Amino acid sequence: MVSITPGNIVASLSVTEEDIFYALAYRREKPKDWRNFIEYLSDHLADALNQHVYDEIRYLTDAYLHQQEECPHRRTTTVTTGGYHYSAGEVWDDLKEEVHCLDCGAVLTDEEEPAHEDAP
Ligand SMILES: [Zn+2]
Repeated sequence: MVSITPGNIVASLSVTEEDIFYALAYRREKPKDWRNFIEYLSDHLADALNQHVYDEIRYLTDAYLHQQEECPHRRTTTVTTGGYHYSAGEVWDDLKEEVHCLDCGAVLTDEEEPAHEDAP
């Protein structure tokens, strides 16, 4: 029997402007009116994420139930780490892209990245 606690918050999510910045760090085309863009995201991002919550719960349930098995790293996300630094009047960055598995949390090295279609 499953015993649930109604109203028990399992997750709450905060997305900062910095998250938005890093999410777009590798995009060539960025919104020109940043403030207006942030306002647009404020209006729509929560609803967009909401649409996926049930799917994510089901995916994670499968991952949880099958965590003994080898994870095929089916769903991955690219995470940007590092940041911008200012020293001696110079701006430099140590931004790095890492591929993380959304199901098991593994950090995948380049060799483990899912094969692209044009790979041999
Ligand atoms: Zn995985």
